[in-house]
Amino acid sequence: MSKPLIVVVEDETDIQDIITYNLKREGYDVLTASRGDQGLSLIQAKNPDLVILDIMLPGIDGLTICQQLRAAAKTKALPIIILSAKEEESDVVIGLGLGADDYMPKPFSPRELLARVKALLRRATAQESQGQEQGQDQIRHGDLIIDIDRHQASLQGVALKLTATEFKLLMVLASQPGRAFSREQLLNRVVGDAVVVVDRNIDVHIRSVRKKLGVQTGLIETVRGVGYRFADRS
Ligand code: CA
Repeated sequence: MSKPLIVVVEDETDIQDIITYNLKREGYDVLTASRGDQGLSLIQAKNPDLVILDIMLPGIDGLTICQQLRAAAKTKALPIIILSAKEEESDVVIGLGLGADDYMPKPFSPRELLARVKALLRRATAQESQGQEQGQDQIRHGDLIIDIDRHQASLQGVALKLTATEFKLLMVLASQPGRAFSREQLLNRVVGDAVVVVDRNIDVHIRSVRKKLGVQTGLIETVRGVGYRFADRS
């Protein structure tokens, strides 16, 4: 799983530094711009997961950037947090009206900003999944989302910590709800193209996946005498 990329557009160097330092320490990738126009180009070029945007900027101001991001299909749903000085409160209202997701009044605590970033990224992941119809790169059953490209599954917006084997098992089963797979079939599909040696006992992996599915453990049903299937609730 790659780190989320955050673009910070802020012309005050010390604030930019504090934000960057804290985001990186938290494990995010960060790119910065000090001018609005550069920030906008950077966002368009790098397609980040979230943007932290100051309002008063040289070049293009933050509100205009916000508006332009919302107008473009690619960045329509991009999470945006705007930063505002105290005297810019009316700009915050405008910013939120233009589609910013959240705002932080300056001065702010890095901890508070990080909490907002985290919440927003989590929400964005959940919304993205809801907004997309079931494509071939994603399998969706209720609030269980299996992102095949990213090799990641989440339940109610929370990432499931699956091993590579467990992920594949879940993916194979969920790709054909209602179909019973024998242990042998599952093993072939899971180990098929893997170089790594995995435990050949499918039951062990299934047990672990079920455990990680928590309240949705019933999604994987036992087919007596055969193997397993993904519940077909459609
Ligand atoms: Ca500024």
